[in-house]
Amino acid sequence: MSFVLTPPATTSVPVVGTKDRFPVHRIYCVGRNYEEHAKEMGFTGREPPFFFLKPADAIVAVEAGSIGAMPYPSLTQNLHHEIELVVAIGQGGKNIKAADAQQHIFGYAVGLDMTRRDLQGEMKKQGRPWCIGKAFDHSAPIGPITPATQAGDLANAEIHLQVNGQERQRSRISKLIWNIGETIEHLSAAWELQPGDLIYTGTPEGVAAVVAGDTLSGEVTGLEPLSIKIT
Ligand code: MN
Repeated sequence: MSFVLTPPATTSVPVVGTKDRFPVHRIYCVGRNYEEHAKEMGFTGREPPFFFLKPADAIVAVEAGSIGAMPYPSLTQNLHHEIELVVAIGQGGKNIKAADAQQHIFGYAVGLDMTRRDLQGEMKKQGRPWCIGKAFDHSAPIGPITPATQAGDLANAEIHLQVNGQERQRSRISKLIWNIGETIEHLSAAWELQPGDLIYTGTPEGVAAVVAGDTLSGEVTGLEPLSIKIT
């Protein structure tokens, strides 16, 4: 069989400790999963989890020890950073129970859910889909994936982001409203998870704007850090 067009390349992310890469299937994102961030966005912080998606090719995969590049996107005057723990699914499934979630996880990475906040706000106001605010090209920078067996105890990990060396966001993974297992339980009730799926688990408080020339450095304790420059 041949194609009428050249098929797109598979989006992939480096994996710590191997030259082999993680192929990306879908990118799921959890909204408002830290109470203080939900509050800063004008909500109570107590609601069931909800999800949105980004296209797989929105990934900007950054190699270990290097600084990635993200072009400042079109149409926005208010590009926001959201530092997030990303879960990489190795084994798919549907209706996965929180208690069984661990066996479906390949590993973890540090990610940025970059957001055209002005466009998202406009869509919210009009009750329209968030795609233009969330799912744009290059909107999902991610660092190398650390296999779960090497990732240590994430329940006690810190998550933080610096912009040009100044701290913008700092919290703990233990402050997730819906923890990783619960998130996988809710998500897999709505979609059948597949190997290669990524889950951006939500951002803590402190989201704010960045401009061209800014360098963003994010960390989660025990994982490979992520650095990216807005160009
Ligand atoms: Mn987010």
